[in-house]
Amino acid sequence: MKAKLRILVTGAGGFIGHHLVKRLKKDGHWVRGGDLKPTDYEASPADEFDLLDLRLWENCLGATKDIDQVYNLAADMGGIGYITANHADISRNNILINTHMLDASRLNGVQRFLFSSSACVYPQYKQNDSDVTPLKESDAIPADPERGYGWEKLFAEELCRYYKKDYGFETRIVRFHNVYGPLGTYEGGKEKAPAAISRKVALAEDGGPIEVWGDGEQTRSFMYIDDCVEGLVRLMASDYAEPLNLGNDRLVTINQLIDLVSKIAGKKLKKQHDPSKPQGVRGRNSDNTLLNEVLGWEPKTDLEQGLAITYKWIETELRKAGRLTELAAGQVGD
Ligand code: NAD
Repeated sequence: MKAKLRILVTGAGGFIGHHLVKRLKKDGHWVRGGDLKPTDYEASPADEFDLLDLRLWENCLGATKDIDQVYNLAADMGGIGYITANHADISRNNILINTHMLDASRLNGVQRFLFSSSACVYPQYKQNDSDVTPLKESDAIPADPERGYGWEKLFAEELCRYYKKDYGFETRIVRFHNVYGPLGTYEGGKEKAPAAISRKVALAEDGGPIEVWGDGEQTRSFMYIDDCVEGLVRLMASDYAEPLNLGNDRLVTINQLIDLVSKIAGKKLKKQHDPSKPQGVRGRNSDNTLLNEVLGWEPKTDLEQGLAITYKWIETELRKAGRLTELAAGQVGD
């Protein structure tokens, strides 16, 4: 049996972090969670959960003490509306978190540090077409990433590589492509497309309208949370220190995503497109060639299957909050 490790997950109060803590506990490790806030929908099984602002150096130093591995998932982030409107806050907050976490981990003798990057590092000029060519890791440079959030992620990736080169510090870099699943934010502005669409569909009356940002022909790929967690654990265990895509490579339009969720909900809805709303790049997909080579594995969960689980969870949350009953009584729209 493999030795039990002492693992720190930052962002453990968030979506991916919480699912990862559950997995690491199941694998028998001792886990410390760190976040500004507790988990939202169920208690964390972490052995220790510290409420910490990881922009602050002293907090990073404390959190990484007596730790073997760090999964650094804490970040100021959100859906496209949020990251488009808050370039300064997001860049400053994430620069502080990532720089302090990386250096505190090195000084405390952490053996491995995984940085969660994003497909937002890829250049805008490679994503102008809905029928986009899937993005390879080497496409990131020459750089033209998403303003704010993407530039910060790209530089933090570079910083990890410099730490590996100059200090021999073991870093792992993952580039997530849209992750979705239950226990994730589904309203308030920080939610992503699958969760926002599930909420809108659940709240809509059958035959009624649904608001869509842009013309809905923008394309993305979506990875189910269980695949995301599996990929994280596999990458941490590997010897690969360069940036690696972690995503699904099935491309769908936002209109198709709405149709899939509507079908799951058993509703027919009229799409109302709002071109004034931010929609991000026109198309984005993951090239999984390198992922397959390095890990001998890639995400497998069917989009229909993952969306059905996610929709059911969001619908249940809305029902528990009494929001679906109100809608039936004609009091609430979305
Ligand atoms: P999330 O927002 O659910 O989780 C991030 C967590 O970080 C939150 O709980 C937040 O409170 C915490 N945090 C923010 N500022 C902090 C601070 N100063 N100190 C301590 N904690 C702080 O997001 P997520 O979807 O779980 O994303 C996890 C990581 O994956 C992030 O680094 C994100 O950039 C990256 N990522 C996610 C996706 C996705 O589709 N979910 C895509 C690309 C990259």
